[in-house]
Amino acid sequence: MVNWDDFGPEKVIEVHDPKTGMRGVIVIDNTRRGLGKGGIRMTGSVSVNEVAKLARTMTWKNAMADLPFGGAKSGIFYDPKMGNPRQKNQMIASFAHALKGIAPSLYVAGPDINTTEKEMGLIAKVAGSRKVCTGKPASMGGIPHELGSTGFGVAISTMLALKYMEADPMDVKVAIEGYGNVGTFVHKYLSEWGVPVTAVSDSHGVIMDKRGLDYERLMAAKKEHGTVTAYRGKYAKKGSNILTAPANVLIPAAIPDLVTMNNVNQVKHKLVVQGSNISMAPSVEKKLHARDVLIVPDFVANAGGVISSYVEHIGGKPPAMFKMVEGKIRKNVPLMFKEMEKNDAWTPRDAAMRIAMERVKAGKWKGPKL
Ligand code: NAD
Repeated sequence: MVNWDDFGPEKVIEVHDPKTGMRGVIVIDNTRRGLGKGGIRMTGSVSVNEVAKLARTMTWKNAMADLPFGGAKSGIFYDPKMGNPRQKNQMIASFAHALKGIAPSLYVAGPDINTTEKEMGLIAKVAGSRKVCTGKPASMGGIPHELGSTGFGVAISTMLALKYMEADPMDVKVAIEGYGNVGTFVHKYLSEWGVPVTAVSDSHGVIMDKRGLDYERLMAAKKEHGTVTAYRGKYAKKGSNILTAPANVLIPAAIPDLVTMNNVNQVKHKLVVQGSNISMAPSVEKKLHARDVLIVPDFVANAGGVISSYVEHIGGKPPAMFKMVEGKIRKNVPLMFKEMEKNDAWTPRDAAMRIAMERVKAGKWKGPKL
């Protein structure tokens, strides 16, 4: 059951095509600031409630990023283990037909779990408009995921938080959990800016070097052997727990619930910059906040991806994307810290939520011009 409140959702649309077996849901949560923006996930367990919750998350994320987008999300019931690529394409094409009339007048789609630039390209073709989704192939005006907009934004957020803490960026030790799209770009940019990254993990384990892990060599090890633990260095050591690796800054960039009430006492870091979504529950964040750990919450730190989507939506190119990611993050992260100082009990997430809510309430978008 969807929870309705003063913010939304504005529309919950369930779609079904008996011919292809496509069953899906589109939730437009709130459009006070602009078109509803959010990805399409294809899983065997997706529910209306899940999609509605994610659509709400997008409302706050887009508002906090200060984009003229509202929040939305879609889901298609599809279990990759049961289906086949042909059936998946048929479902996507059928879903694209169902989007006509909703996108791009009210909704802009994008990739999410089990949907990539390939599916976005198909949706744009079937719907007959490049404006219906972002995350398209570069040949169709897409801004590639591989440019690392999210990791770039997370790295800038880290620099801004260190500045706020009056810490010397050359004198900290950073641990990165996960070495995929987000984690690798965080490492790339922090290395370029002279910030030591002393521990990195992936699904195989942890690699640590108190003197700093070399970005190029770590990338080469991961590419050649499929794991960061293949990195070799005079002082490099393998480990199994990223939380206890020597570091005073933690950047989660892989799984949800990395930190829980059970292991929160292992977190000795002074700063946590959340690259991944829901790396800890708000109750865990509060506990860390009470211990004076500064946290940059996920929907602020990892907004580079949605900012990149906006640039693609307005027809911008990669240089404009990097400029906008940097500009928005540089504005919003310090704004969040300033808001937080108004009340000792507020965590950075509380402060960011206040900013996002005020922006949504002040939104003046009047809907599509029909
Ligand atoms: P990815 O699939 O490219 O990389 C994930 C990495 O995590 C891989 O290196 C994998 O080995 C590692 N990993 C998996 N299980 C692990 C474990 N138990 N311990 C340590 N590492 C583990 O994913 P990504 O695109 O880098 O996204 C990472 C997280 O950030 C996800 O939660 C995603 O939802 C979130 N996020 C990503 C973006 C984006 O633009 N890529 C934007 C916003 C949020």
